[in-house]
Amino acid sequence: MADTRIRNATVHTPAGPIEADILITGEQISGLVSRDDETRADREVDAGGKHIIPGLVDPHAHTRVPGYEYKEDYLTSSQAAAVGGITTYVDMPNVEPPTDDVETYEYKRRIADDTCIIDFGHFVSGTKLEEIPRLAEAGATGYKIFQVSGGYPHDPRLAMGETEKIYAAFDQIAKTGLPCLVHPYNQPLMDMLSAQAVAEGAPRDINTFARMYTNDIVWSSAVAVLLRLQKETGVRLQLLHTHAGESLKLIKRAKEEGQRFTCAVDLKYYHLTSKDMQEQGARALPGGCITEDDERMAIIWESLNDGTIDTIDSDHAPHTLQDLEKMYVDPWTGPFGSPQYQDMLSVILTDVHNGKLSFQRAIKLLCENPARVIGQFPKKGAIQVGADADLVVVDLNKEVHPRDEEAYSKCGWTPYHGWTLTGGPEMTFLRGQVIAENGKVTGKPGYGRYIAGVPQVPTAITNLLSPGLAFEPVAAKERVPQAV
Ligand SMILES: [Zn+2]
Repeated sequence: MADTRIRNATVHTPAGPIEADILITGEQISGLVSRDDETRADREVDAGGKHIIPGLVDPHAHTRVPGYEYKEDYLTSSQAAAVGGITTYVDMPNVEPPTDDVETYEYKRRIADDTCIIDFGHFVSGTKLEEIPRLAEAGATGYKIFQVSGGYPHDPRLAMGETEKIYAAFDQIAKTGLPCLVHPYNQPLMDMLSAQAVAEGAPRDINTFARMYTNDIVWSSAVAVLLRLQKETGVRLQLLHTHAGESLKLIKRAKEEGQRFTCAVDLKYYHLTSKDMQEQGARALPGGCITEDDERMAIIWESLNDGTIDTIDSDHAPHTLQDLEKMYVDPWTGPFGSPQYQDMLSVILTDVHNGKLSFQRAIKLLCENPARVIGQFPKKGAIQVGADADLVVVDLNKEVHPRDEEAYSKCGWTPYHGWTLTGGPEMTFLRGQVIAENGKVTGKPGYGRYIAGVPQVPTAITNLLSPGLAFEPVAAKERVPQAV
């Protein structure tokens, strides 16, 4: 006897799709059984011949708590996530006050505990060296370092661009065995190139800013240094926003040489177009600088498919439309970013529908690999016996029309407003409970549970020789964080 039996679905396991029914007992998957198996359950769910994938794991949430609750909070961000098929997220430290010591971390964790409807973790800032071991001991999921600086949300107080400072932080973080995410950015070079462009007559508007912000060399020159520092310190590095062609070439070469690290791209960079920017303005940043560059797009798709890129992040980054107005005054210090949770899975399933990505590879990028990055695989990110029953029923064929009016995110809009997408989530389970169904939230505040950091040695996720198929086992060799 099980608590729940989900019948009539194609189930996507780490080994591939199978025709099976899923049994759930308590919070876990207790069986994957054939259609004619006779196990009964208190509750039967008919998946209607659709697909079931693991709940998405997103290690790049901006929940805006504390300090910016007028933009978003744990309840609204986790509701948007639940509707979008995301069952675990880890959020970022660029809040007010910044999450850079044990006190601010514990304060934030208490708020999330009471309100979040999905499982959650916290990445903390790696700027204060003496706090790094303390935060690991307190249970931080990992660290985030911003090389980018400007104005909020790229808070200058959290920015760290200098090689020697990053080296010192990597060295300390490596001792904790926790992941270290970095927004790679050569800020001084970006400042210089921007000043040059303006001096040559470019307007100080969002178009010039977008062009400068996404300039390949600004990202790739930072990635080159970060890869070298990773090699030296052995930190569990996860590079973020890897959309620059030269970065992806460096990353591929380093992986081929056996260097162990991971990297992520987020969907806004390679989906939002200049047409979106014309229609929506700052909502659609970076708005076409990348999507109009055929060469760069080719290398992004290749990297998503061949294992150079390990994860697709949301970078769910809500701002109110009023705050976005500041981008028209001074884009170099204004806030930009967009909510992503509700539509992310549909955007990626549309890529699958259009033949850009296999469904199997999309599941690796959205579920399995991010769970590995935070040390949770196969408890999360996998459909197998013993794993948490975090499941998403997916309809690959339905048409989805994102609309501002239907956004759960507190900011009340979506950069995909007016798009027609193909495929989307229908029902989301977290640890056996239905938390969203047909676009409506059913999960309760406070159901989400904290995901503490898991110390590991650096892991290379994908074997580049067999893209998307062969995976090295997770280096589960736990090590005790050393006292510093
Ligand atoms: Zn971000």
